[in-house]
Amino acid sequence: MNDALNDLYQEVVLEHKRAPRNFGHLPHPTHQAEGTNPSCGDQIAVELKLEGDQVQDIRFTGHACAICMASTSMMTEAVKGRDVEAARQLQQHFRAVLTGAEDPENAPLGKLVSLAGVRQYPSRIKCALLGWHALMHAIAQDGAGDGAAVSTEQEPSP
Ligand code: ZN
Repeated sequence: MNDALNDLYQEVVLEHKRAPRNFGHLPHPTHQAEGTNPSCGDQIAVELKLEGDQVQDIRFTGHACAICMASTSMMTEAVKGRDVEAARQLQQHFRAVLTGAEDPENAPLGKLVSLAGVRQYPSRIKCALLGWHALMHAIAQDGAGDGAAVSTEQEPSP
């Protein structure tokens, strides 16, 4: 990790924590899921409006640490307007970078690469992945229903 990327990481986390994007409830979500990360106390809920395969709108609510808030905020920006398959691929690359399976310089992460700094803090990787977990569970849901619940305890430790 070079210093420039590390500085960017700190800056991006603080900025998104201060002003999370797409924070709040969606009027009529088609899909939703909650995510909890007991090891940190993060609790978020993701609400989606899917039209066909496209993420037409997405919002999230919850109480979480700065890294979880920033990562979920950036996730919503990254997937809004994209299709489900693109979101899934982004999630896989993001996860691979955080767990060290993929090099951040070569991963097609766009802006999300600024969160690669989380790699230095293994205990916080679950915080950064929680929003993505919830997104994938929401997408896997058929209809809004009561929503799915997911916990990062299902995530193997890096
Ligand atoms: Zn956290």
